Parts: sequence; C-alpha cells; structure tokens
Amino acid sequence: MGLRARLILIVTLGLGVSLAASLGLVLRTEEVRERHNTSRRAAALLSTLAPPMSVLLTQGRVADIDNLMGDLAKRAETLGFTGIMLIDGHGVAVAGTTDGTYGADLARLDPFVARAVASSQALQDPPLPRWPLRVSVPVQAGVRWATLIGTLDQDRIQQSVMERRWRLVASALAVSTAGLLVLLALLSVEVLWPLDDIIKTARRLASGDWRARAHARGAAELQQLATTLNEAAHALSGTKEALEAEVARRTEELQRANERLEKVALTDPLTGLFNRRYLDQTLALEITRQRRAGRPFAVLMLDLDNFKHYNDKHGHPRGDELLRRLARILTEALRGSDVVARIGGEEFLVLLFDTAADAAVVTAEKLRAAVADHAFPFGEEQPLGKVTISIGVAEWPTHGDHVDRVLEAADQALYASKAAGRNRIMLAPVPAPSTGSGAV
Ligand code: GH3
Ligand code: MG
Ligand code: MG
Repeated sequence: MGLRARLILIVTLGLGVSLAASLGLVLRTEEVRERHNTSRRAAALLSTLAPPMSVLLTQGRVADIDNLMGDLAKRAETLGFTGIMLIDGHGVAVAGTTDGTYGADLARLDPFVARAVASSQALQDPPLPRWPLRVSVPVQAGVRWATLIGTLDQDRIQQSVMERRWRLVASALAVSTAGLLVLLALLSVEVLWPLDDIIKTARRLASGDWRARAHARGAAELQQLATTLNEAAHALSGTKEALEAEVARRTEELQRANERLEKVALTDPLTGLFNRRYLDQTLALEITRQRRAGRPFAVLMLDLDNFKHYNDKHGHPRGDELLRRLARILTEALRGSDVVARIGGEEFLVLLFDTAADAAVVTAEKLRAAVADHAFPFGEEQPLGKVTISIGVAEWPTHGDHVDRVLEAADQALYASKAAGRNRIMLAPVPAPSTGSGAV
C-alpha cells in the first residue's frame, strides 16, 4: 500500500475513532441534559398548578382539581405528561388524571413518592437509567400538606433525544469530513507532494539525468532530504564530469601515443622516411585505388652507388649521415603526393601516382641529377668522383598487372643501370605479351 493510501487510512481511522469516542460522550451528556431540562420545565409547569390547587383543596372542590390537572396535562402537550397525581401529606393519592390509584398508600409502595412527600423542594427521579421520568412539586396552603407528582412521556423524551442525536451526528460528520479534507490537503502540501517530487528526482538521477534537482518544500525534514539529494547529485555529477574529462584527456593522450607508435612502426628511424612495413600496408591499397581509377603509376628503385666503399673509407656514422642527406634530397625533389620509402640499407623506393613511364623517367632523372650535383662530404673520394645513385623505372600496367611484377621489373632495371656503369636511369623493358594476368 502506498504512502498516500496509508496516510489517508491512518488519518481517517484516527479521526473516526476520536469522533466516535467524543460523540459517545456528547450524546450521553445530551441525554442527561434533555431529561434534566424536561424535568425542570415540567416542575415549573407543575408549580403553576400549586396556588389554584391549594385554593380548590381548601374549598374541597376535588372534581375541579382533577379537571385542573387534566387541563394542564393537555396544555403541556410538548412536555407530554402521561399522568399527574395529587398526594396528601400521608402519601395517599387523593386526585389525578388517571383512575385506579386513589386511596393507595403510594408513599409506602414507591420510594420516590415517599421522598417527594417528605421534601419541601421540587424533586425529580434520578436522571438515568430509571424510567419513566417523574417530577414532584410541593403544594402549600399555609402549612404544607400535599405534593403534585407528574409522570412524563418517556417516548417523547427519547424521541427528542434521538432527534438531537441525529443532528449532532450529522453536524459532527460534516465537520469531521471538512477537517479530514483540510488535513489531507495539508498532508499533500507538507508531505505527499514534496515526497513525490523527491522520488521523481531520484528516479531521473538514477536514469542518468544528472541535471535533475528536487524542490526543497514542505515539511522541514523533507526540505532537508531534497537539499541533501541535490547536494549528492551535484557532487556526483561533478565527479562524473571530472571523470569524463579525465577519460577524454587520457583517450586523447592514448590516441596521440598510438599515432606516435604508428609513426614509429611505419617510419625508418635513421632517415625519417616510410619503411618497408608502411609500403606493405599501403601499397596494395593505393595501387587498388589507382587501378580502380584506371590511371597508371610508376615505381622507382634507387640504390646508392659504391656505398660499401664510402662506409669502408669514412666509417658507418658518416655513411649514416650520407643516408640522411640523401633522404632529404629525395624528399625535397619529389611532390607531396609521391611516396618515398627506405626499403633496405641503401635502397629506396619511390611511388609516383598518376604517372606513366615517360614522366617517371623525367622524375628519376631529376633525382639522379639532384644527388649527383650535391656536394656530399668526401664525395670526390668515391670511385665515380662523387656520390651517385642508380635508378630502375617500371610502370603499371605496362610492366605488369600485378604489383610484384612491377617491383621486380623496376629492380631488374636498377641492376641493369648498375651493370651499365651506375649513376644512371634504366626503364624496364616492356615484357612480351602473356596469356594471363594476375590480380593486385
Ligand atoms: P653498388 O654500387 O653495387 O650498390 O655497391 P655498394 O657498395 O653500394 O653495394 P653493396 O651491397 O656491396 O653494399 C651496401 C652497403 O651498404 C653495405 C653496408 O655497409 C652499407 N649499409 C647498409 N645499410 C647501412 C646503414 O644503415 N648505414 C650505413 N652506414 N651503411 C649501411
Ligand atoms: Mg644495395
Ligand atoms: Mg649500393
């Protein structure tokens, strides 16, 4: 059962119990009060009979006494006398509105009559639960000698009590229903709505909406709960943002480290040029693109001439320095779109995209001349009087449909230029037409 239903049940039960208890008390008091009022009014009425009664008694007009009492009983319709009796000083009934009791020694039979005859005051039966209700009034004519006793219609009193009771119950119900509504409205404002808001906010936070905040309203404890929830959400979202920023920073760092690692893995550390692995990874891809576009591409195979001689004469560190310089010269002489890689000790490969063999030969010549014209340290001590390179040129698709064929053709052309005396370029010969062709 939800809190709202529980609260409504508890409040209704509490109100119901206290209403029933207080109503019971009020109704009981009401009954006593009604009997008391009725008997007081009845005594007052009876008292009005006393003076004429004493006159009639003095004159011995007993029949008139009966009539007088009968008249009064009729007049006091609202009070509802069921009977009025006149008792003499000995407790014997001498007159009355009902027959059958005259001459009876009532004082001996009825303790109330005995008390009434002995008293100079108006009396009434003890209020509850003695029925029926009777009142007595002394009748005095000089010396006291008689008592009037009136018996009241119990049903009438009871009916009047019941009517009053129903009115009381109805108004109590109306008032307590209004009270219940006011109480529920207060409960809603003070407890239920603020609690609903806190629950909704907690649910939003749980579903990842970190901007959700509860309204601090209603009872002080709930305001405190909302404030604490908001503070916790604020602290957690701060931590989350900090964590996300940290993760983003680390991810970026990792990305950069990966890029560095990738570069290292694909770069030749000595010259900074791409290495064989790069070629293996990208060559096939690039060539596939070229093929798809239907454009030719050329391959230059480069090798330093007499490099062993240079190393032997000047040492490896100087040889390394020469390799670095050579790499710079090649890079500067080529276009940004061309790829140059160091594929062996002093062997380089250049890929020229969108370039046919004749244009490749021009580029190769440009490279050769750039190297031959460069003043390398101790160049003059080389067998050819300077540092030089030999180049083999091949082209796709002229020298092979498969990339390996093209590379092989370029390699053979390189050997040919070595054999021909070095410091030169050789274009691979066009192969004889074959029956089949392989894929790249
Ligand atoms: P050729 O004109 O026929 O190419 O003669 P070569 O001496 O250049 O060729 P060879 O293959 O006989 O020698 C290649 C030399 O390159 C051997 C080695 O000392 C040198 N070499 C290979 N890698 C490196 C390197 O990383 N640094 C240095 N300093 N020398 C290297
Ligand atoms: Mg070599
Ligand atoms: Mg060489």
